[in-house]
Amino acid sequence: MKCPACGSARVFPSRPRNVLERIRQMLTEKQPYRCHECGWRKWEVVRVHPESADVHPEDLRTGRVSPPVSSTDLDLLDTAALKATRDPLVP
Ligand SMILES: [Zn+2]
Repeated sequence: MKCPACGSARVFPSRPRNVLERIRQMLTEKQPYRCHECGWRKWEVVRVHPESADVHPEDLRTGRVSPPVSSTDLDLLDTAALKATRDPLVP
């Protein structure tokens, strides 16, 4: 979904601002959407980005995706934590 005002792709679902909006969201198929580029906001029918299901709003904001944590990484963390508890502040 692109912003009709500025053409940016940074249009994300927006939280309801007040009780009225929350009730409206519960009663209708719509929810507020907001453009992070220009602040444009409008109620639209809820969409679940079918064309890019893997893209999360957070990824678009930071522009990078952290690699998934592997079990090797977790083992390294465990080892480091054990070492830290075994030798507290020993030079
Ligand atoms: Zn915009």
